[in-house]
Parts: sequence; C-alpha cells; structure tokens
Amino acid sequence: MSVLVVGSLALDTITTPFGSVDNALGGSTTYIAAAASYFSAPVRVVGVVGGDFPKKGLEFLESRGVDLQGLEVIEEGKTFRWSGRYHYDLNVRDTLFTELNVFEHFEPKIPEKYRRSKCVCLGNIDPALQRMVLDQIERPRVVVCDTMNYWIERKNEELRKTLKLIDVLIVNDSEARLLSGEPNLIKAAKAIRAMGPKIVIIKKGEHGALLLTEQMIFSAPAYPMENIFDPTGAGDAFAGGFVGWLGRTDDLTEENLKRAVIYGSTLASFCVEKFGVEGLTDLTYLQIQDRFREFRDLSRFDED
Ligand code: AMP
Repeated sequence: MSVLVVGSLALDTITTPFGSVDNALGGSTTYIAAAASYFSAPVRVVGVVGGDFPKKGLEFLESRGVDLQGLEVIEEGKTFRWSGRYHYDLNVRDTLFTELNVFEHFEPKIPEKYRRSKCVCLGNIDPALQRMVLDQIERPRVVVCDTMNYWIERKNEELRKTLKLIDVLIVNDSEARLLSGEPNLIKAAKAIRAMGPKIVIIKKGEHGALLLTEQMIFSAPAYPMENIFDPTGAGDAFAGGFVGWLGRTDDLTEENLKRAVIYGSTLASFCVEKFGVEGLTDLTYLQIQDRFREFRDLSRFDED
C-alpha cells in the first residue's frame, strides 16, 4: 500500500550529553518517511520548507525513494526550526525554541495522485493542518497520527477534532497523561480511545511501548542499548516503521499490529544510535530482520 506522510521538515539544533549540532536535517516527516521507506514504496511526502532547506536534505529523502511531489518550497521563507537539549537521563528533554516559520501559514495541498493513498501518517504538526490533509483525500485504510505536548497544550480543541478522524494515536507516556488527565497509562489509553482512535500506542522511551485496543494490551520491550547517541526522531522513526509495516502488509489484525510495533521499535533503535537522521541512512534488510528477532528473544521464556 502507498504511504502518505505529512509533518514537519526541519532544521534542528540539538544538544545531548555527547555532543551538539546546529541546523541539522530533522523534522517529523523526515524521520517517518525515512523509516517507512524500508518497508513501503512509494512513501509520499506533504510538507513545506524554506529556501534555506539544504539540498542534501532533499537528496537524502530521494535516495530513500521518497516521492517529494507534495513538498512545497517557499524560496523567500525560512524552514521550521526546533531546538532541544537532552539531560543525562535521555528520556528528559527541554525544548529550547520552536520557530514555525513557513509552517505558520502553511496550507497543505495534496497532489491528485496522492489522494487515494491507503495508509496515512499524520506526523507531529498543528492538528488543524492534519485535518486539512484528511479533508482532501479519500478515506484511507488506516490513519496513524502523532502529536506532542506543544499541540496538546496550545491547540487542544483542534486536536480533539482530529482525534475523531483517526485510527491509531501514537504518543509518549507524558503526552498520554497530559491529553487524558489520567496518571495511570491504562486508564489514559481508555480515555484517549473514547476521544476517537480505536488503537492507542504509548511509547515509554527506554522502557518500551504499549499497544492498547479494546480487546488487548501488548507490551513491547525496549531494545537494550549501550550507546544512545541522540534520541531525536526516535518517536518518528517508531511511527515510520509502524506505518511502513502496515503499508507493506495491508493487515490490521492484532498479531500484525504487534509486529508493526516491534518494527517501529526496531527502526527507533537504529535511529538513536547516531546523530540526527544518520542512523536511518543505509540499513540493510538483514540488519532490520536480525534486530526484529532479537526483540522477540528479549521477552520469550519457557513456562517450565
Ligand atoms: P521526536 O524526537 O520523535 O519527538 O521528534 C523530533 C522532531 O520533531 C525534530 O526533528 C523536530 O524538528 C520535530 N518537532 C519538534 N517540535 C515540533 C512541533 N511543535 N511541530 C512539528 N515538529 C516538531
């Protein structure tokens, strides 16, 4: 199935305990599309950048076979910029600034050939823009949506409207608590499901992820990593691996959703091993399969 991704393309300024970068290629779409491209083709992108967006950013996405027809370039505008600083506990990050720039007046226009995309991933952008995308396409097989505290706090009403239209919401634990007003994650997921999405995925950083539907709770382990270099994009790489796998298989059964969560976790683990998008640059099928199997072995045990 074709996968349509909408979200930010960004220049990120990141500081971790191990180093820092200025204006590195980033943004939710960049990570999602790169991760999804390991499973699905074509991966189609809708977004906007300014004239300052580096050519090598576009070349990177093209090298992953990503279709950029839906990417608007506003020559006189400035690309979205975000800056974050990670603590020694890499689960904790402060946003230093968010400059919407060309995103402030962005109105997504979906190219004709994108309108029958079967799998849609709404990356982390203004929930009103996420809905504008859904308004322009035929009902896909599955709509996966990501968001973050920035939108939960600033655009709560818009987000509530978007949640009614999606199938899967992917958030981290603190976002799930913030959105639902529930400290307990199981209750939080229940409250979020009542807002619209039938399937909720709660990421818990280095402690794995929960997949919750009406019928089941699946707890995915985290890959035990000795060297985490830069956690930026882990959540988006997770979403990309998840949606890419659904796009490849066109199978929304419980067992396949679980596999999609593990493929998402696999891509996220590769992402954080290097700075920025570097960890998603040239993985092989074998590397991905090997790590996918390692996930299975992590929590398999004999009954007696
Ligand atoms: P993650 O680490 O998966 O949460 O994603 C980090 C990426 O999200 C970075 O590359 C940022 O450019 C992008 N980002 C951060 N804040 C926002 C925001 N408010 N809207 C859109 N994208 C954002």
